[in-house]
Amino acid sequence: MKELTHFSDFKILIEMLYSVRTAYYDTPNDTNTVNTILSISEPILNRKNSSEENLKQYSTVAISLVDLIKLGKATDKDFEVWYQRAKIHLAEMFISLSYDFLNNDNYFPDSDDELDKMLLEFFDGDFFIFRAAHYVASRRYALKDPMLCYKNTMSDFEKEPELLQKIFANKHYCYSPEKIKDAIYNVCPICDSEEEKPFYCADQAILDHNSFSPAKLWMKCNGCGNLYAYNFPVWNMGEINGHYTSKTEGQVLTPRNQLVKYSNIFNHIKKFNLGTKYLEVGVGSGEMLAVALEMGYDVSAVEICREDCENISGALGVDIVWSDFLKYKSEQKYDVIIMGDILEHVSKPIDALQKAYDLLNNNGILWLSTPNFNSAFTRMRKFTDPMWNQKNHFTYFSYEGLEPFLKKVGFTVKRYDVSERYNGSMELILQK
Ligand SMILES: [Zn+2]
Repeated sequence: MKELTHFSDFKILIEMLYSVRTAYYDTPNDTNTVNTILSISEPILNRKNSSEENLKQYSTVAISLVDLIKLGKATDKDFEVWYQRAKIHLAEMFISLSYDFLNNDNYFPDSDDELDKMLLEFFDGDFFIFRAAHYVASRRYALKDPMLCYKNTMSDFEKEPELLQKIFANKHYCYSPEKIKDAIYNVCPICDSEEEKPFYCADQAILDHNSFSPAKLWMKCNGCGNLYAYNFPVWNMGEINGHYTSKTEGQVLTPRNQLVKYSNIFNHIKKFNLGTKYLEVGVGSGEMLAVALEMGYDVSAVEICREDCENISGALGVDIVWSDFLKYKSEQKYDVIIMGDILEHVSKPIDALQKAYDLLNNNGILWLSTPNFNSAFTRMRKFTDPMWNQKNHFTYFSYEGLEPFLKKVGFTVKRYDVSERYNGSMELILQK
């Protein structure tokens, strides 16, 4: 039984699951018990499209249980952990199968109520198993039916806020809708089009960060072809949007071996403009600003996160203006403006590009870095690219989707690079 294709297969598997429980408690060290456990594990592990994380965790539990049984060291608790996981996965298969039938207008059982009833019957009235299985099953629809996946995941966590930590021992996520408050976006923040289509539902619960919803739905705009978040936490838009520094044990800056990469970037910029008036938008952890100082730039900087602003300003001895870039006021114009990994965080990305253009001298350079969902890395990794789960990202461009806006603002693209700093990001040198 490699892949479950019919409900009758599922019923056989459920019967096997119950028989393994009897077998375990009667003869825990018996070869037959091990074989039955393996025979249940095989179809679970061969199940296509289940989330990698779930399968990895299940596989670890199953292998260790079998090893312990062979050594005669398995405890009832080890068995129960595996047993619960196996139940979740079997229920997940059942729910997925039901959805597939539903899509083919041949749904069995007839309604959600009936599905609930059947699963509860199978699983001894265990609502948690049903909820957990429903969540795992919904992940299979992350691409096929992203809105379904999003709605199911949200409702599963509303009903069972600690769902994830009950499934995975090493997770602590707890969903509290009052604290998070997502705003819903139905209009493209890039081109204002109202025509969009759900594209992919990212699993944010797995990131284990309690300030974010369990799911983020990426929409694809029909107007400009770029992506944006359908739901995004209200608190995350603007003011904070990620801290990149911390003051620990007196050490403010910890270079992450990126310094040479920044010097290469500046050497590329100097091929197009030798001016030294420099503005950095969003200083993050301060590495690029430090290299700009080393390479002789006359630096100014603006940062929206107050903590980063104070930490980097103090460490490098540079005045950094604490402000939203769109509200930043400057007496002077610049030869070089740096916007590294900013565009994907802001609510009005094209306004930010226009602002940078207005602040540049003629022939001035804007250096831009942002994730590209058509990058080589993302093409190869597809939805295992961690960029899909970046919780602070509001928009997601492709080069093809971004380029018309760059032209419209007035920029000429002088150079395109695959980022050496972040997998799946593009780095552009743009000239006014
Ligand atoms: Zn758009």
